[in-house]
Amino acid sequence: EQQKLKRIKSTKAVTIDGISIDLLANIEVPEDVAAVKLAGATGIGLYRTEFLFMNRHDTPDEEEQFLAYKAVAEAMKGAPVTIRTLDIGADKQVNSDTVVSCANPALGLRAIRLCLAEPQLFHTQLRALLRASHFGHIKILIPMLCTLSELRQTKLLLERAKQSLRKDNIPFDENITLGGMIEIPAAAINAEAFANELDFLSIGTNDLIQYTLAIDRTDDAVAHLYNPLHPSILKLISMTIKAGIKLGKSVSVCGEMAGDARFTKLLLGMGLQQLSMHPSHILSVKQQVLHSQLAELKVQARKVLNLTDIEKIELNLAKFNQIQ
Ligand code: PEP
Ligand code: MG
Repeated sequence: EQQKLKRIKSTKAVTIDGISIDLLANIEVPEDVAAVKLAGATGIGLYRTEFLFMNRHDTPDEEEQFLAYKAVAEAMKGAPVTIRTLDIGADKQVNSDTVVSCANPALGLRAIRLCLAEPQLFHTQLRALLRASHFGHIKILIPMLCTLSELRQTKLLLERAKQSLRKDNIPFDENITLGGMIEIPAAAINAEAFANELDFLSIGTNDLIQYTLAIDRTDDAVAHLYNPLHPSILKLISMTIKAGIKLGKSVSVCGEMAGDARFTKLLLGMGLQQLSMHPSHILSVKQQVLHSQLAELKVQARKVLNLTDIEKIELNLAKFNQIQ
């Protein structure tokens, strides 16, 4: 099986009926790029920058961040590199003074909420990202958006960072695109409004499942209830994909669900054409893509979306995955 997978490494991820699917990689540190290349990913769909901030007592300055982002952009040689702004709090605690403990960290001051509350911290990261965009194809991704107001404040701060670079005569990609993570149920329900004001969307199923099903993603005692096939999860994913299609904006899934080959055909059938995952899953997901007939999968996915209980969805999916 491993041998078979290796053989498709340089094969393009195209369905039987000729639709090209983007298989992107998730990374946490610049050193992960080597694995991305080995796996044959077409770009980076999620660079979790918080790892640069974790397990240390100080905060990386603009130069240190710039060098990390630039290294990834250059190593990817013009392929897209989607860099997510700081997502700390909850399961990703930082040993610095910027994070205060609270009763429900997953519901607290994390990700974009923290960045908007700490504009200087955010400004430094935005400047570093913009500077690095001169050296490759960088896209900016905002985590944990819940309201349009957060998005508009973010855009204002991004514009301010651009202005400060122009003033300093430092080059950056003037056409840099801005995307948002859809990982809070409220954002998925309102996905059209976000798609309208963003260049692209990326569905974070890890948090979307946690918040929709009220299941702590880090709590083993409820891990058996954590199920991507809950009909409400599928509905939220489908709504988000449809919003993107309607407004002509690309949508990807970058949570763990994207790297699980059992879900590939279902996601393709729901209209998804971009998946971002740990590099080790690229080949097994590609194998599913190569055996997918999109037109047929769309018909089947519509049936699955009409089912209302998990057991029936699971049964249906097993059949679905047999389809060539
Ligand atoms: C997600 O929530 O699905 C996601 C991709 O982000 P993270 O796992 O870093 O929270
Ligand atoms: Mg998340």
